[in-house]
Amino acid sequence: MKGRFAPSPSGRMHLGNVYSALISWLSARSQGGEWLLRVEDLDRQRCHTEYAAQIEDDLLWLGLTWDEGGSKGGKNQPYFQSMRTEIYKTELEKLSSKNLLYPCFCSRADIMAASAPHDSDATVVYSGKCRYLSNSERFALLSTRKPSIRIKVADVESCFTDRHYGQQKCNLQQHCGDFIVQRADGNFAYQLAVVADDALMGVTEVVRGCDLLSSTHQQIFLYKQLGYKIPEFAHLPLILSESGTRLAKRDKSADMGNIRAQLTPEELLGLLAYSAHLIDKQQPVSLTELLQEFNWEKLPKENLLLNYW
Ligand code: GLU
Repeated sequence: MKGRFAPSPSGRMHLGNVYSALISWLSARSQGGEWLLRVEDLDRQRCHTEYAAQIEDDLLWLGLTWDEGGSKGGKNQPYFQSMRTEIYKTELEKLSSKNLLYPCFCSRADIMAASAPHDSDATVVYSGKCRYLSNSERFALLSTRKPSIRIKVADVESCFTDRHYGQQKCNLQQHCGDFIVQRADGNFAYQLAVVADDALMGVTEVVRGCDLLSSTHQQIFLYKQLGYKIPEFAHLPLILSESGTRLAKRDKSADMGNIRAQLTPEELLGLLAYSAHLIDKQQPVSLTELLQEFNWEKLPKENLLLNYW
């Protein structure tokens, strides 16, 4: 059994990131499993190595040790997505050889203008316009702009059982449409990278925030097309700011720099464990004690309001 934490080093971690890391770590360790750290720095403009180092420091401060990954390296290295381009190219070629890909010349503005009603989570459903271009149209457009690459999705129901939120269903064509696997700037899309990495690094359990619950359908589609074994997925409620909005890395009150200035690791673990219903009183607790208390059944499903910060 192998769990993982896959942060994007685009800023200091906030409580939501730490909550996901903690639950993922507890789940893996309570099953006697390994835990891996992968740095998702595909977006080179927003991601910086200093933040990656800070993430490692914050995890270690809490005692969340990993067996492979990050700057520690390991048998599946590199663990920085920015260094795994050749691997993603190979995966892309596999999809291409199955005739699943096509170039898309639509700009964001074109897509918004032509989009069908948005899906409930505000995902813009791609109309599939460029899927149906003729070869001569494609050829003409290639000389005008660099395309992104999309994968053709099937018009079938996709189902999986999330360990925490239960049965999930969607029709990819209706709810998302053909999606991007490589951007026009040449960068690989998160959906492709995360699947290739989790599969090739031997991850068997993916624990992360429920903001990624719906994109799991796209990932499962890619697992199937690439012929990889699908890991178990478990999504977690989000931690919301005092005003009820999603925490962002710019919310300084919830960032680890601020928290470390005010709390000990055991105090923070106590707060997180209390909001995760793992302990009944808000009091300092150690990781060893939490490992004894950990049980998926106890965890809440509704988003958590951290209004005591
Ligand atoms: N890198 C993503 C993030 O930091 C998480 C991806 C994942 O866990 O699959 O939001």
